[in-house]
Amino acid sequence: MKRYLTYILLLGFPFFGGQNKMAGQSTYAQDWKLSEQKNEALAFDADIKLSDAEIALDKKLFQLRKQVLTEAETQKISLFNSSFNELKPLIETSRLFKIIRTMPKGGLLHSHSGGLADVKWVISAARKYKECYVYDQKDNEQYIFGQLAFFARENVPAGFVSLDKKLTSNPGFEKELQDLLTLKRDKLCTYTDYWVEFEKRFKRINLLLPYRPFFKEYYLKGFQDLAKDHVQHVEIRFIFDELYDFQHGKYPLKMSITDLQDVLKQVRRTNPEFSLKLIYSSFKFLDPKSVEKQLETAFELKKEFPDMISGFDLVADEAAGNSIYSFQKDWMKLNELSKKYGVDMPLFLHAGESNSVFNKNILDVSLLNNRRIGHGLNLIYFPATMEEVKKQNKLVEVSPISNQILGYVSDLRNHPARVLLSNGVQCSINSDDPSVYGYEGLSYDFWVAFMYWELDVKALKKLVFNSVNYSSLNKDQKKEAIVYLNRQWNDFVQKGNDSLN
Ligand SMILES: [Zn+2]
Repeated sequence: MKRYLTYILLLGFPFFGGQNKMAGQSTYAQDWKLSEQKNEALAFDADIKLSDAEIALDKKLFQLRKQVLTEAETQKISLFNSSFNELKPLIETSRLFKIIRTMPKGGLLHSHSGGLADVKWVISAARKYKECYVYDQKDNEQYIFGQLAFFARENVPAGFVSLDKKLTSNPGFEKELQDLLTLKRDKLCTYTDYWVEFEKRFKRINLLLPYRPFFKEYYLKGFQDLAKDHVQHVEIRFIFDELYDFQHGKYPLKMSITDLQDVLKQVRRTNPEFSLKLIYSSFKFLDPKSVEKQLETAFELKKEFPDMISGFDLVADEAAGNSIYSFQKDWMKLNELSKKYGVDMPLFLHAGESNSVFNKNILDVSLLNNRRIGHGLNLIYFPATMEEVKKQNKLVEVSPISNQILGYVSDLRNHPARVLLSNGVQCSINSDDPSVYGYEGLSYDFWVAFMYWELDVKALKKLVFNSVNYSSLNKDQKKEAIVYLNRQWNDFVQKGNDSLN
């Protein structure tokens, strides 16, 4: 009663305005509808019109989301205060996940060399090489516990033991090593210096990848897993290293590219549409002089392999590295280098992987020839730049699970990408370094985006098609990829509707 009186005091007696009730209500309803439409028209997926079959599937997926919510409640799991790692079993047993797994994903535009192939596989594949060793001593300046490497028998440094022997003599070591190679945010409330731990994961396998026989196996496995998850195209932020083996020694840099082309041929035997582009990546912690050298190398490689190298990026923790702006001299040389080598070098910079407004890397991306933005988490705090990015039609590569594991977002409902999407900034869904985070493929990221951002089929479709439309595929390749994707998508819609009847 008291509450009712408060309303009356605030709003007046309802019947006082009774005469205008009809007219007032209808304009209010019209205005409300108009307001809703105006907001929807701004969204990133406003141009998508769904078919009847897609609308039917949308209703079914809506029900599957409800099922997940009910199941979480039954199991007394808090969806919003649990980490990805805690939720993984719930995700995997959900019907929603089974359907999302069958969804064609288009391209994975944001991934890293060293973050692709499942770590269980890495351990089992590496132990087959008698020349594979693991460091089983306390961390020192040069090596860390659990670090893997290949050595010729006469050159094994102190502290390294045969991986196979170690795994055989100590059965518990396999699980321990798996944990050393993956980064999990076990509880959202525990403290870890995520970037320090993250970089250790890479250090532990970095010496494995340049060994040529392993290199080929690694990428074959990585690509096959992606293809299995219905990813048809992948772009890797690729750190170039000279491959080697013990018979030949070191090979020139371009061997990575020609070997990957061979691997690609192998994958295409079973997945003829599968394609790959490499983004030459260097590090934000280097100085401008060193980055200049890296840029020259990138241009040289692109001149020789224009169809494999798509552009350039600088990676590593933005909070610890140099700002993009500090490399301005390098960026100013891009035109000159383009003329010299006869190829262009668009940038694909990681920028705004941060919650801080003091990190202004995002300002650079709208000023440079930067086609896509890696993460762009703090873009929403720079509204003028956000508007620019939208106008320039640059895509933000979003990696929801990575963002949670590295501590940028806890409750995924509050992911900044939701603001970008509703403001019409184009995005795609990515898995960044799935092997380091303990999973494969792209389905988990789509699952969390669908659940936490309350997406519908329209949004899913736009995100999937964005990943090909904003890829580095050339015009003809893109056309072909879209034809294939369309076919896969329609097939998915039909089969999804059939299976969910
Ligand atoms: Zn990344």
